Amino acid sequence: MDFDMLGLAPRLIKELERQGITDPTPIQAQAIPHAMNGRDVMGLAQTGSGKTAAFGLPMIDMLLKEQGKPDPKTARALILAPTRELAKQIQENLAAYTTGTHLKTMLVVGGAGIVGQIRKLERGVDLLVATPGRLIDLLDRKAVRLNDTKFLVLDEADQMLDMGFIHALRQIAPLLATPRQTMLFSATMPKLMAELAGAFLDNPMRVQVNAPGKAVDRIEQSVHFVAKAAKTDLLLELIDKHRDERAIVFGRTKHGSEKLHKLLEKKGFKSASIHGNKSQGQRDRAITDFKAGKVKILVATDVAARGLDIPEVKHVYNYDLPNVPENYVHRIGRTARAGAEGMAIAFCAPDEMGELRDIQKAMKADIPVAGGRPWARDEEEAKPKRGGGGGGRRFGGGGGGGGKGRGKPGGGRPQGGGGNPGGGKPGGGNRRRKPRKPSA
Ligand code: AMP
Repeated sequence: MDFDMLGLAPRLIKELERQGITDPTPIQAQAIPHAMNGRDVMGLAQTGSGKTAAFGLPMIDMLLKEQGKPDPKTARALILAPTRELAKQIQENLAAYTTGTHLKTMLVVGGAGIVGQIRKLERGVDLLVATPGRLIDLLDRKAVRLNDTKFLVLDEADQMLDMGFIHALRQIAPLLATPRQTMLFSATMPKLMAELAGAFLDNPMRVQVNAPGKAVDRIEQSVHFVAKAAKTDLLLELIDKHRDERAIVFGRTKHGSEKLHKLLEKKGFKSASIHGNKSQGQRDRAITDFKAGKVKILVATDVAARGLDIPEVKHVYNYDLPNVPENYVHRIGRTARAGAEGMAIAFCAPDEMGELRDIQKAMKADIPVAGGRPWARDEEEAKPKRGGGGGGRRFGGGGGGGGKGRGKPGGGRPQGGGGNPGGGKPGGGNRRRKPRKPSA
């Protein structure tokens, strides 16, 4: 199968060839023919599968065929993505695919000056890539209208739902032209997605490349059972063994991730951090430095890191386990891209056993144990009260009496106090794990 069999315009195929894109990826082979037939498409695919081209190429092809030009303050196609980084990446890819054509692409995201965006929209644009919040801002200011927009893409739709963009989507979708063609791509299909698809798609063709929740086979996964207070030492030991290889370390909170990044720097590991407290400039620089290999370690929260296409990430450390099981799949999907091998290493403290169980349930598989042994129920439940005696600290091993609970680096069974590293009273032995809110 090659691209001309999919019916794309020869000039587009030529440009793709020039960029080394000659064979469609599975998601492209499946989605493009339906999209070219004008059908709505609902695709289950992760970033790295080539999904940007899967929705981008048919749209570009159709815009080229229509030959029209956008009116001032209009967009002919709209692509919505949950994060600024992902939106930027999509726009860059689309700009590359439209090289040598008259089609204009544009990015509108928060964190960048709105005045420049308003001015640029004056001329109208063919392919507009946006995050929902900023787009609504621009719609409110009448900087853009969508009644000429015949193509809509919702990318990483599950994350948009997670981030609470559903209201924004409900607000935006009715403003588009009727009829329109809609494509929705998502890495997972939570129940709410069916509702979203029902509301925004018209009799969609479903395409899929990976079973939901099934991690890529090439990723070697492992879990260390390690006391909270011993996590930092274990991380330092592991990254020291692979100094030349790129790693992403996932933390749960903005604050914790920043603290961990600073600690890594202090210990001589050049790193960058990316989370919701960083300015857009800082986030961009972190990604650029990491991609260029200037720093080998990126400390990230879920929200900031999803969907990014970063080549050659050898190790993904789940320093904190995600409390949304699907995010585990997203996180480990940052490695083993483009045929490479990758390792995903999870750290599980006593109070994360619930998260681990949820992840293994979602994956329908147990993660091999690399250090320690699973925490017993009494250890798991005898967790310190939140915020009490420093027990709420999740980062920076030395904190809050953590020294007592420090196990052997290497993930071995921490001796004494492991289940209660904060030294606080084991409050509420019967308390169940509380759902935690991501704060990335
Ligand atoms: P995506 O999943 O859209 O983020 O794409 C991941 C990467 O694969 C991007 O860098 C694309 O340029 C690249 N890519 C997309 N389609 C192909 C293809 N058919 N052959 C080779 N590389 C591709």
